[in-house]
Amino acid sequence: MGLRILVTGGAGFIGSHLCERLLDQGHDVLCLDNFFSGHKRNIAPFLQRPNFELIRHDITVPILLEVDQIYNFACPASPKAYMQNPVKTVKTSVMGTINMLGLAKRVKARILQASTSEIYGDPKVHPQVESYWGNVNPIGIRSCYDEGKRVAETLMFDYRRQNNVDTKIVRIFNTYGPRMLEDDGRVISNFIVQALRGEDLTVYGDGTQTRSFCYVDDLVEGVIRMMNTDDFFGPVNLGNPTEFKIIELAELVLRLTRSRSRIVFKPLPQDDPVQRQPDITLARTRLGWEPKVPLEEGLLRTIAYFTKLLL
Ligand code: NAD
Ligand code: UDP
Repeated sequence: MGLRILVTGGAGFIGSHLCERLLDQGHDVLCLDNFFSGHKRNIAPFLQRPNFELIRHDITVPILLEVDQIYNFACPASPKAYMQNPVKTVKTSVMGTINMLGLAKRVKARILQASTSEIYGDPKVHPQVESYWGNVNPIGIRSCYDEGKRVAETLMFDYRRQNNVDTKIVRIFNTYGPRMLEDDGRVISNFIVQALRGEDLTVYGDGTQTRSFCYVDDLVEGVIRMMNTDDFFGPVNLGNPTEFKIIELAELVLRLTRSRSRIVFKPLPQDDPVQRQPDITLARTRLGWEPKVPLEEGLLRTIAYFTKLLL
C-alpha cells in the first residue's frame, strides 16, 4: 500500500531524484522546499502527477502535516551555498531538524536524516568507518555545515532515546548527477560546465586531494533501502568507495567532453579535507547495497544533462 511520504529539500538535487523514485513506487509524495538552493525545474514534471504535492515552506518554521515517513534532506549542500548564509545553515540543520523530529514524534512517522561525510571533517582515519568520531574544526568557515549536521545526528539519537522516535541516519559521501545547479559550485558540476563552455577548469590547490563520487541513482537506492529496513537505524555510510584525485577528475571530464579547456590552479579553500573515501562494509552487510554506476558512466549521463541545459 502507498505511504504518505514527506521529502524536505525535495526540489534540490538529491531530493528531486528521491521524490521521483518514491512517486514511481506509487507513494503519495509531499515535497517541501524553500527553494534556497533547489529549482522548480527539478520537480516541474512531477506537478502533473496525482500523487505529488509541493509545499513552499522553510523547515526552520514548524509545520503540521500527516505523514508516515520523513526524508529530511533540506539543507544547502554545496560549500558555496551553505557559506552564503552560515547562520541560516546552522538554523536549518538544528531548528529544522528539531521541527521535523517534533513532527515525526506527533504523528509517529519514521524519519531519516541526510547526514554527510563532512561530519568526519578532515579525517585522520582512512577510509572512514561509521565508528570514527571525526576531526572537525568547530570555528572554521565549513563549521556551519559540519557542526550543524553533527548536531542533527545528536538530535536524532536524543529523540530516539528520550521520545522513542523511529530515527535513521545516512552519511552521504560526494554525490553527483543530473539536476545539480549549473552554478552550484561543487566540483563535478563546475568542471562539466566549465568544459562545455570552453572555460578554464578551476582546480583548487594542487589537485592531489581526493574524493569518492557516487552517482545519484545509486545513492537514492541506498537511502530508500535504509528507510525501509526495520532492525537497523545507523548511522550508515552511503557512497562510492572508488577514490579519485581532483586533478584526475579534471582530466577525465576534459576527455569525456572532448573539451579544449585548460586546467588552472586556484587557492585551496580553508579546511578543505585532504582525502575522503567511505568504508561501506556496513551498507553492504546490513542493506545489501553497493553502488553500481562507475564514474565514467555517471559523468557521461551528467554531461548529457548539462549539454541540454546549457543549449
Ligand atoms: P541541494 O542544495 O541541491 O538541495 C537541498 C534542498 O534543500 C534545496 O532544494 C534547498 O532549496 C532546500 N532547503 C535548504 N534549506 C531549506 C530550508 N531551511 N527549508 C526548506 N528547504 C530548504 O543539495 P543536495 O546535494 O541535494 O543535498 C541534499 C541533502 O543531502 C542535504 O541535506 C545535504 O546536506 C545532504 N548531502 C548531500 C551530499 C552531496 O554530495 N550531494 C553529500 C552529503 C550530504
Ligand atoms: N574543487 C575544485 N574546483 C572546483 C570546485 C571544487 O578543485 O571548481 C575541489 C574542492 O576544493 C574539494 C573537491 O574539489 O577539494 C570537492 O569539492 P566539492 O565542493 O564538490 O565538495 P566537498 O569539498 O564538500 O567534498
